[in-house]
Amino acid sequence: MDTITSAEVSGPNGTVIRGARVVTMDRDRTVGNRDLHIGTDGRIRSVLDPGAPIDGTADFDASGLIIVPGLIQAHVHLCQTLFRGLSEARPLLRWLRERIWPLEGAHDPETLQASANLGIAELLLGGTTSVLDMGTVHHTDALFQAAKHTGIRYTGGKAVMDTGDGIPGSLAETTGHSLAESDRLADRWHGVSGGRLRYAYCPRFVLSCTPEALRGVAERSRRSGMVIHTHASEQPDEAAIVRKAYGQPNIATLRSMGIRGPGTVLAHGVWPEAEETLMMASDGTHVVHCPSSNMKLGSGVIPLKAYRDAGVNVALGSDGAACSNHLDAWQELRLAGLLASMANGPGVVDAIAVFEIATIAGARALGLSDRIGSIEVGKAADLVAITSDAPASSGGGSIYTRLVYGTRATDVRHVWVDGHRVVRNGTLTTLNLKDTMASADVARHRIAARLGIDLNAD
Ligand SMILES: [Zn+2]
Repeated sequence: MDTITSAEVSGPNGTVIRGARVVTMDRDRTVGNRDLHIGTDGRIRSVLDPGAPIDGTADFDASGLIIVPGLIQAHVHLCQTLFRGLSEARPLLRWLRERIWPLEGAHDPETLQASANLGIAELLLGGTTSVLDMGTVHHTDALFQAAKHTGIRYTGGKAVMDTGDGIPGSLAETTGHSLAESDRLADRWHGVSGGRLRYAYCPRFVLSCTPEALRGVAERSRRSGMVIHTHASEQPDEAAIVRKAYGQPNIATLRSMGIRGPGTVLAHGVWPEAEETLMMASDGTHVVHCPSSNMKLGSGVIPLKAYRDAGVNVALGSDGAACSNHLDAWQELRLAGLLASMANGPGVVDAIAVFEIATIAGARALGLSDRIGSIEVGKAADLVAITSDAPASSGGGSIYTRLVYGTRATDVRHVWVDGHRVVRNGTLTTLNLKDTMASADVARHRIAARLGIDLNAD
């Protein structure tokens, strides 16, 4: 299947979604009862007063629903969805070396696609419409195939890992091969599906890359405008090893190799040194807050307020299912808000600021501010409709408080990407969930058998 289908009823002039309360996240943060005219090109044609007639359109009744921009997760690992629960109770470097890297090395194209499909199913059902995904070393075409067929907006790439301690032979690669394979994938996939699929250069982290690879990635990004995505300063021991090896802090080391600026997205950034925060702010480098993963691996709490005060753009991500055990942006939003209150006091980072990190700030990180992140004329119709009568979200106060602290993935009813409805009444339109889970189970057993892992052991 080359294009996604959602069997929508649409008029020759598109569809009007009527009756919803719309949280636009536009410049004025407009919230209100609006009708949304979606053109046949999948873009938002107009944001209308309720009931305004538009010729040649079909109506979609969204009465009683709240519509928000499709949520954006700027750090996930779809290759790890099958590994949920298989690398528990370990700090970062042991978590990687003892389990995650061997598991990734045991993937074949089929298991990788099964892992991606399972992850995308969870993401779309929960209202995440865009991701920035770090792949594993091999078989990256399978990730793009999954993204293409399921309809999610996908930016991602293969992990670059051309050196480092504890990397299994199954993931080992030379610098030349790693960069050449990255280039091949970029040529093959960047811009496919009307620009819904984009390539990102993904050096895994400083400790898995030679300076030659890091510089090579920086040079390619500068030339092509493609995003660079890497991990940085997730845990203190990782940062200390980098400092010892390079004589400067982690984020400064990346910067000295040219990995900096508006095209660079750093996952975690829990332990920036003071001067690094200023560097990121002046360069326009983005950081991704991964609350569940940071708590589960004992990494720490990112200095969200300090980043915001300095002017660093902070996006949101659930990381991989192997370290957060879920891919639910609503849970991450709630945790981001709670952690900020714990660190800086209640409301110092308010709910609207928290909601921004999964919408407009995420769009900025992906370099897609002109296309997604808010509900505005000309932007893609990446939309999420949630029920307004769930018990946990009932009550008064700010809509943003309700969205950040009281909304759950199960409240999502419909999801559109580029105007295609990928979730209808809580059911995926592009994947069969039962088959997806069954395929994932087969793939998980195949990988466990390759490594001699007991899936029932703690
Ligand atoms: Zn990660």
